[in-house]
Amino acid sequence: ASGEEKRRLTILGSTGSIGTNTLDVIERLGGRTNFEIAALTGNGNISLLAEQARRLGAEFAVTADEERFRELKDALGGSGIAVAAGRSGLIEAAERDAGWVMAAIVGNAGLAPTLAAARRGADIALANKECLVSAGSLFLEAIRKGGGRLLPVDSEHNAIFQVLENEQRHAVERIILTASGGPFRTKSLEEMRHVTADIARAHPNWSMGLKISIDSASMFNKALEMVEARHLFGLRPDQIEVIVHPQSVIHSMVGYSDGSVLAQLGCPDMRTAIGYALSYPKRCALPIDRLDFAKLARLDFEAPDENRFPAIGLARRAMEAGGVQGAVLNGSKETALEAFIKGRIGFLAMAEIVEKVMDALADLPAAVTMDDVFAADEKARHTAAGLIK
Ligand code: NAD
Ligand code: MG
Repeated sequence: ASGEEKRRLTILGSTGSIGTNTLDVIERLGGRTNFEIAALTGNGNISLLAEQARRLGAEFAVTADEERFRELKDALGGSGIAVAAGRSGLIEAAERDAGWVMAAIVGNAGLAPTLAAARRGADIALANKECLVSAGSLFLEAIRKGGGRLLPVDSEHNAIFQVLENEQRHAVERIILTASGGPFRTKSLEEMRHVTADIARAHPNWSMGLKISIDSASMFNKALEMVEARHLFGLRPDQIEVIVHPQSVIHSMVGYSDGSVLAQLGCPDMRTAIGYALSYPKRCALPIDRLDFAKLARLDFEAPDENRFPAIGLARRAMEAGGVQGAVLNGSKETALEAFIKGRIGFLAMAEIVEKVMDALADLPAAVTMDDVFAADEKARHTAAGLIK
């Protein structure tokens, strides 16, 4: 391909689990021959970020950590790759001209840079579900005004995106998000009370970053995905169902008004969703394991136990309340999760804290601007931190 035909991409969070999978897909689809990398961003893993930037010939590399600026600059010395750090560097990366941006920073830290890319009209491949959970309709409005596409990468939402025909949207009755149930699917509350972050992070099917792995164990990941789906597909809370499906083969389903249910299936490998978002509306060739149905033999399903996994009920509550309750849910969850990772609170305390923060902040007014979203997030973190101490 000649220079003009190359697609320009930016990967926010290139050093993480989604980020490295994204670079893997890009390289399998021709790498530097077919793509130009406008920017890559990371945080603490400077040597990996520098290695990625050199390998893909990125124009710009950013670490979120201001204190690592010098280190990144040294690591990229002589390469001609521009370097920056901190929040302003992340925004600059997002604003660089690239038609497709992978939003794969973890947590609410991804919101401002993803918004910056959305506002200038880039197609957003969205792994960072927190954008939709916290900012909901304001985030969608930024995408709409910018004029780019929103391409869901979260495997469940990508599955729904794959089977949701636009002409048939009026006939969607419900969507059914599948959940693996995580490592504690069959554990009692008593057993869960004493687990550590090391135990909680061991996911049975998916290999993911630390925080989302623990969120899968508590089912807060599914809770965030319920709110994410509600915004993404414009549905009422009662149209969003969750079913535990331990094999993670069905990635999610759409139920239509004629009784049909359409599903997307595959081996649990995020590169399918990433490749779909990169190739949309076409499909690309990827070396994902193929499903062998005879070997699988069976698929299991069970209702989620909301008593052992209160996160599901909290998501429903946040969806029904609307307003900034998504930001309250996510902000308090992130603070509780960090405290659990540090061993300061127990596993079950995470949901208890989120519930108390939602009680305390139930009357916050709906957000008019993004600043209101950031303020609600901050209040939720502050309130959660008070409960933890
Ligand atoms: P990860 O922890 O593996 O990687 C996170 C990335 O964000 C890294 O590049 C890291 O350097 C960067 N980062 C960390 N803190 C930052 C900060 N404060 N500011 C800027 N950048 C920072 O996470 P992940 O598992 O790749 O998840 C990324 C996002 O994708 C999350 O929102 C997660 O919920 C979502 N997601 C992940 C998966 C998965 O399979 N891993 C699946 C679905 C959705
Ligand atoms: Mg998911």
